[in-house]
Amino acid sequence: MITLEGITRSFGSPPTEVLRGIDLHVEAGEFLGIVGPSGSGKSTLLNVLGTLDRPTTGRVRIAGRDVSELSDNALSDVRGHRIGFVFQQFHLTDGRSALDNVGDGLLYRGKSRSARRKEAAAALERVGLGHRMLHRPHQLSGGERQRVAIARATVGRPEILLADEPTGNLDQASGGSVLRLLHQLNESGTTIVMITHDRELAASLPRRVRVIDGQLHSDGDPA
Ligand code: ADP
Ligand code: MG
Repeated sequence: MITLEGITRSFGSPPTEVLRGIDLHVEAGEFLGIVGPSGSGKSTLLNVLGTLDRPTTGRVRIAGRDVSELSDNALSDVRGHRIGFVFQQFHLTDGRSALDNVGDGLLYRGKSRSARRKEAAAALERVGLGHRMLHRPHQLSGGERQRVAIARATVGRPEILLADEPTGNLDQASGGSVLRLLHQLNESGTTIVMITHDRELAASLPRRVRVIDGQLHSDGDPA
C-alpha cells in the first residue's frame, strides 16, 4: 500500500538531515505504530508518508505509484481520496459545527453542500457523535473533538489513515475510546499508521517501528 525507499529529509542551510535513509513497507490492512523519542523525526516521516511533504531524496510509492512523478494536481487527488489525517491538536475550525467541520473533509470531492452534510452526518454517527452534530468544537470534550477529527479524516472513506499522536492530548478514558474507534476502522479495512508516545498503547499494536535519530529500528532491536 505504501513503500518508502531510501528516504532522507533535510531542513535549513547548512542542511540538517532529520530523516536519514528510511525504508518501510506498509501492507494494506495493517495497523502500524511509530514510536521513538521526541525530535527523532516521527512527524516528518508521517508527513512524507502522507505526501504533505516531499523527501529530499528517496522514493514514496502509494498503491504502486511513485508520487514524485505525479503533478501537484494528481498529488492532491491522491491526498484527497486515499489518505486521511488526524493530529494531536485536532485542527478543527472554531465557530463551525461538527457537521460542517466533517463536511470540509469532502471539499476536494466536488460534492454539493447538501451531499457533504449528509455524508458528514453519517460519519459522525459512525464515531458515536450523532447527538453532537451541531455542537461547535469549544462545546465538545477533547475526546469528542478527536472523534470529530476522525470523522472528518474518514468521511471520504480513505484507504489510509495517518494519525500523529491522536491520543496525546486526551485523558485515559477518552484516549481509550479514540483507540477503540481506530481499531474498528482498521477492522473494517482501513490501513492505519499511528505515532504514539503511549507505551501501553503501542504495545497493543500488532506491529511497531521505532524512529531514533532519523533512522528506523524494528521494535525490540537494540537502539
Ligand atoms: P518528532 O515528531 O519525532 O518529535 P519531528 O519530525 O517533528 O520529530 O522533528 C524532527 C526534527 O526535525 C526536529 O529537530 C525538528 O526541529 C526538525 N524539523 C521538523 N520540521 C522542520 C522544518 N519544517 N524546518 C526545520 N526543522 C524542522
Ligand atoms: Mg511529532
